[in-house]
Amino acid sequence: MRGSSAGILFYVNHAIDQKYSRQMLFQPLGREGQERLVSASAVLVGCGAIGAATANLLVRAGLGRLRLIDRDFVEPSNLQRQTLFDESDARESLPKALAAERKLQSINSDVQVQGIIADLNPRNAEDLLSGFPLILDGTDNFETRFLVNDFAVKSGVPWIYAAAVASYGITMAIRPGQTACLACLLDSTGTTGLEETCDTVGVLNSAVNLMASLQASEAVKFLAGRTNALHARLISCDVWSGRFQAVLPQRDPGCRVCVGHEFSYLAGTAQPRITMCGRDSVQIHERSRALDLQVLEGRLASLVPEVRQNGFLLRFRVPPYEMTVFSDGRAILKGTKDPAVARSLYAKYIGD
Ligand SMILES: [Zn+2]
Repeated sequence: MRGSSAGILFYVNHAIDQKYSRQMLFQPLGREGQERLVSASAVLVGCGAIGAATANLLVRAGLGRLRLIDRDFVEPSNLQRQTLFDESDARESLPKALAAERKLQSINSDVQVQGIIADLNPRNAEDLLSGFPLILDGTDNFETRFLVNDFAVKSGVPWIYAAAVASYGITMAIRPGQTACLACLLDSTGTTGLEETCDTVGVLNSAVNLMASLQASEAVKFLAGRTNALHARLISCDVWSGRFQAVLPQRDPGCRVCVGHEFSYLAGTAQPRITMCGRDSVQIHERSRALDLQVLEGRLASLVPEVRQNGFLLRFRVPPYEMTVFSDGRAILKGTKDPAVARSLYAKYIGD
């Protein structure tokens, strides 16, 4: 027994030496930090631009386990900045969680990668986020970020906020009870600072990758147990103008979340059923229900001219609209911002 477990230990040590030698040579991490990293885990919410880049860095750095949660599918316009995906993923309209899991697994098979196709919402947040010591922000909207912030503060789990739009980005590692939380930062100023979105003003892939790099660096410190090295700064930078800023935000003594323990996003009282999802499209999540996409395809075939499904999602066109339906009952409707139009099309083609 001793001999065989010693043999396994030798193999593991050898594999770590081979794979992560350059990282272990970095003195603040060393072998001990790397060993902690390979037994650590994290959950990433959103695997688009920043999410994909952060996942790529952390999987290459060798964390033990990564769960990715994403609600969307790959489209050609993603490829400019969403560095885990390629043209064949876009042609097949693969869910990002699945395409990312496959690519990450081929990059580093020692990491357990689990892609989950879902929209993080108040009903599933506790299930999907529980059990991880760190949450990473790869989302594209403040509603989901406030939901993550509620869960993180309530559970005492750190999370790393990161966002980018146009040439600008912002990031901060939030440690409940120790640093300001997202509501401390944003409620007091009454602004999110990033009302514009990538769908209205675009985004440079260099801004995305810079924010992902800053996020991944803080994540490695957490996961390798180097919490003394966390800088606690809110960093904002603009890759076009070259302006960089780092401030130490104070906690808001009147914060509704980290002081008042009012978790309105987690309670679901703050989330509407139909939400904006990029320019000229809405997401419908009236209720969670399991849909048999093959059965739905058969039924729609006689109603609409073109319907396609790939086992994960089904898509059809009713000009000028295009609807993509997921097996959990969620749908993304392109071609309108009007919730009433979205609701009536959903009722007509998918059911009440
Ligand atoms: Zn707060």
